[in-house]
Formats: sequence, C-alpha cells, structure tokens
Amino acid sequence: MVTNGVVIVGGGLAAVRTAEELRREEYAGPITIVSDETRLPYDRPPLTKEVLRGERDETTLEPQEFYAGHNIDLRLGCGARGVDTAVQEVTLADGSVLGYDHLVIATGLVPRRIPSFGDLDGIRVVRSFEDSLLLRGDAAAARRAVVIGAGFIGCEAAASLRKLGVEVVLVEPQPAPLAAVLGEQIGELVARLHRANGVDVRSGVGVAEVRGAGRVETVVLTDGAELEADVVVLGVGSLPATEWLNGCGVDVDNGVLCDLAGRTSAPNVWAVGDVAFWRGDGHQVRVEHWSNVVTQVRVMVPAMLGRESLHDVAVPPYFWSDQYDVKIQCLGEPAATDTVHLVEDDGHKFLAYYERDGVLAGVVGAGRPGKVMGARAKIAAGAPISEVLT
Ligand SMILES: Cc1cc2nc3c(=O)[nH]c(=O)nc-3n(C[C@H](O)[C@H](O)[C@H](O)COP(=O)(O)OP(=O)(O)OC[C@H]3O[C@@H](n4cnc5c(N)ncnc54)[C@H](O)[C@@H]3O)c2cc1C
Repeated sequence: MVTNGVVIVGGGLAAVRTAEELRREEYAGPITIVSDETRLPYDRPPLTKEVLRGERDETTLEPQEFYAGHNIDLRLGCGARGVDTAVQEVTLADGSVLGYDHLVIATGLVPRRIPSFGDLDGIRVVRSFEDSLLLRGDAAAARRAVVIGAGFIGCEAAASLRKLGVEVVLVEPQPAPLAAVLGEQIGELVARLHRANGVDVRSGVGVAEVRGAGRVETVVLTDGAELEADVVVLGVGSLPATEWLNGCGVDVDNGVLCDLAGRTSAPNVWAVGDVAFWRGDGHQVRVEHWSNVVTQVRVMVPAMLGRESLHDVAVPPYFWSDQYDVKIQCLGEPAATDTVHLVEDDGHKFLAYYERDGVLAGVVGAGRPGKVMGARAKIAAGAPISEVLT
C-alpha cells in the first residue's frame, strides 16, 4: 500500500526530535520535514549565549548525513502555507502539495516586534541564527545597547553584550527582571546579578519611543529618560507561529490546542514544541523551553503510532538560563503568585522553593544545580513544602 507517511512542518528541535523518535520507535514509513529556513535544523539556546558572543559558529542538531541515513526527506527553504485537513494535504510556499497520513505542526514561535518603533536599523530580536549573527555584528561596533524586556531572552542578551564590553541598559516594565515568571523577590536577585556585572537595570518603566535617522540613536522611556543606543534588543516575548493554519480547521488559541498527547482538533494532525498548547484535565501547558520539547515528543510519537507511551508529559518541567557565570535553573512550575522561600543566598548564588497550597510547586536556583535537580521527586510527588524546609 502506498503511504504518504508523516509530514513534519517546522525546522527546529521539535521537528528533528519527532523524526528521530519515529525512527527509534521503528516507524518505517516516509518522513518529510518541511522548514522555511535554509539552514540545517539547529539548536537555539546558544543564540543568546555562545553564538552571540562569537564563541560558536554553528549549532546544527544533526549533520546532513543523519537525514539521508534515516531516510528522512528534509526540505529546506520552503515553508508550509496551508493545510487541507479534509483531504490531508499540506501546501508549500512554492505551490507544491504534500499528502500526509499524519501531520506534525512544529513551527515554534515568532518574536514580537513593536510596530510603533518603526523599522530603524539596529533594532534586533533573537530567534533565528541569522538574528544572532546580526546582533553579534552590531555589538562589535556598538558602545551602548538598550535591551527592552528582561525576560530570559533579554537577560541573556544583556549578559552576553556585557561580556562583549558593550554598555547595557536593561529596561523592564515589571518591578524586576523575570518578575512575571519567578516573582518580584527572585527577580530582584536577578537584577542584582546584572547590576553586579555593570548593567544599568531600569525596572518599572516602559519605552515610549525609539528615535533615530535611519538607524536607532535614542530610546525614550516613559519616565522621560533618554538613553543613547547604538543597538536595541527587543526581548518582549513571542507568538506561536500559527498564521499558516488560519481557516484550516485546526483550533488555535495561544498556540495549537492539543490534548495531553499532542492531538489537535483535526484528524491525524498533531502539534509539539513551543507552538503547541497541550492541555488535559486541569493541566494546561504551552511551554517555551527546550526540555519540554523532548518530553512532548516522547509522549506524542507513541500515541501517533497507536502505542502506549512509557513517558509522562506531566513530569516536572525544567529549564535553564545561562547569565554571566551562573546557570539559573527552574524545575516544576514556579509562579509569580506562589509563596517564595529563599533558603540560600550568598549574595550571588541562591536557592528558592515555591509553595502553592502547602505543596512544593517548584524550585529556582542560581548556581545550585544539585539542589535544584534533587527536588525532582518531591515536586513530582506533590510533596508538602515542609519536607524541603526542614
Ligand atoms: C535565543 C533563544 C535562547 C533560548 N535559550 C533557552 C535556554 O537557555 N533554555 C531553555 O530551556 N530553552 C531555551 N530556548 C527555548 C528553546 O530553544 C525552544 O523551546 C525550542 O527551540 C523550541 O523548539 P521548536 O522546534 O518548538 O521551535 P523552533 O526551534 O522555533 O523551530 C520552529 C521552526 O519552524 C520553522 N517554521 C515556522 N513556520 C513555518 C512554516 N510555516 N513552514 C515551515 N517551517 C516553519 C521556523 O523557521 C523554525 O525553524 C531558547 C530559545 C531562543 C530563541
């Protein structure tokens, strides 16, 4: 019987890991990966770190031979522009059509931009390899940078720019960096880390205007401050890359809506990675972090093949962020609204447990890898907070 096999749309971690997992599960049918990027699929975490600092020039996930060796048809530089879920076909940007038995949506995120800033040269985002190279190029000639938004991307970009010797102002409308995710108390410790490394952290203030003649020159804050800037980094979040799915019958709401195995509202259509909003009984996740992709793939692929998964998507989520000489790690689902127990703080490294309803919901550490990872079983078991505070 002729089979169309699995078509995976997206050229990032989720796409490659899905193809790998299908072959590991001994799926023998055709696999096609369709990416709108021309590079071989690559890893993104180094883009705000080693790549931006010029310490690495490639982060390819698998070499070209891998795809040929596993009989994976990798189509680069030609994105998907639509799906007909009734006849199970994807249309590509060049007008060609691919039939599928299963379709995997793995299109990731598109960084937010701020239209009112105009298209001045020197306003950068960091999502793709090319974005990182452009910012690296700007940084080589820049004396002053303004980073707008102190989420993970903004904080990492600020840290790397400082390492390159650029003067950095980090602007964040929230009361502290990362406050929306980790709460104000831990956000203040992150601010302290940046200040100790020479960053001018301005919290609780927004950006009113970016000025320049052709190229960015000045950032005007809502408190009236005017900051000179040779380059501006926008770290103001990202949106799921779902525009190409408009009107095709796949339900989208802050990402592609899925059950807890990645099934979407359309038959034989799955979604995974940053673009996917997995949900089930009382548990909703759209996570924009690396390890989550790997976990989801291990749950989704067996379900796609009609097998039982040995993995559980509800394992405590984990992510890390490298800033200066510390690794900030988060395990579980810490939230800004939790009660935070700061149990270690030497002025640089710290460890905090997050309590919700009397239970250990998450742990956040800077330079405390053993203790963060050591809390995994207790978080998974929903242990009472008293168990880690003794
Ligand atoms: C700069 C940066 C630093 C990060 N650092 C960390 C970190 O330190 N720790 C951590 O846990 N996580 C980190 N992450 C997050 C992690 O990299 C992501 O969770 C991961 O890349 C998600 O993989 P994905 O495949 O879902 O999406 P992506 O990696 O975004 O891949 C999506 C791919 O789909 C392509 N695509 C989009 N639309 C189409 C279309 N219509 N047709 C075909 N292809 C399309 C895109 O071009 C892209 O190649 C970082 C992310 C970034 C951007």
